[in-house]
Amino acid sequence: MQRRPGFPARLPGAGPAPAPARTMPPPSPVARRPSAVSSPVGVGLDSAAVRARMVQKLAAGGIGSAQVLQAMGAVERHRFVDSALVNQAYEDTSLPIGLGQTISKPSVVARMCELLLGAEGARSGGLGRVLEIGTGCGYQAAVLSQLAREVYSLERLRGLHDKARDNLRAFRLANLHLLFGDGTLGYAKGAPYAAIIAAAGGDAVPQAWCDQLAVGGRLVAPIALSGGQQMLLVIDKTPHGLKQTVLEPVHFVPLKSGIA
Ligand code: SAH
Repeated sequence: MQRRPGFPARLPGAGPAPAPARTMPPPSPVARRPSAVSSPVGVGLDSAAVRARMVQKLAAGGIGSAQVLQAMGAVERHRFVDSALVNQAYEDTSLPIGLGQTISKPSVVARMCELLLGAEGARSGGLGRVLEIGTGCGYQAAVLSQLAREVYSLERLRGLHDKARDNLRAFRLANLHLLFGDGTLGYAKGAPYAAIIAAAGGDAVPQAWCDQLAVGGRLVAPIALSGGQQMLLVIDKTPHGLKQTVLEPVHFVPLKSGIA
């Protein structure tokens, strides 16, 4: 039995609590007033259909988890990119989100989420608390909020932390907590985590991440190998220690220390 997170409450100051929803509720007046000036041309009204095509492509590309496909179909990616880029929002491409950072490709987001759901501890009872390093525009955090009971997402750039908060406000995801800080330190207050996912890659996995992972938990992160090639790394924390698996090559922005 897979358990879906609920949307039981409200963010402080976010207005009345919404009714429980199977998909994410339309977050802004744009969805209710399609003629509004800010309605993104070419995506606005039929975004559900465009998203459904994206989900079909993800499935054809090998994403097998119905839960992940459902989450990718529910989160409106076009609301997380600049208005000049909305027409590319459902293409399988990374896009600039400001301050030199990028929103990850949908196929990579889906792939990493599917890996998280494969954690030993998530197989029965679903995914518990998840830590995301690199909130960026907040898109992947929103997807994770559909898959996990609780999501903590850390961003080191104040400008993007604020942007993500703005992007996410109307979605009212009561199980998603945005934090401003250096993700290389993890977030000890929320530990232990059922899963940790990094959207930025360094050349080593910070010790704090391994320490804050629960037994039965899984970490998924890009890592630069000695030749400089970045690869997707999975670390499973077992009762007998850490088990590492190196998967396919990936291209993520660098993991940096400190805040800015
Ligand atoms: N998941 C994001 C992807 C953002 S790109 C999205 O859906 O948009 C990766 C992000 O990681 C960038 O915003 C970058 O600023 C952030 N980052 C890099 N190093 C970090 C660190 N040490 N702590 C927190 N965030 C970090």
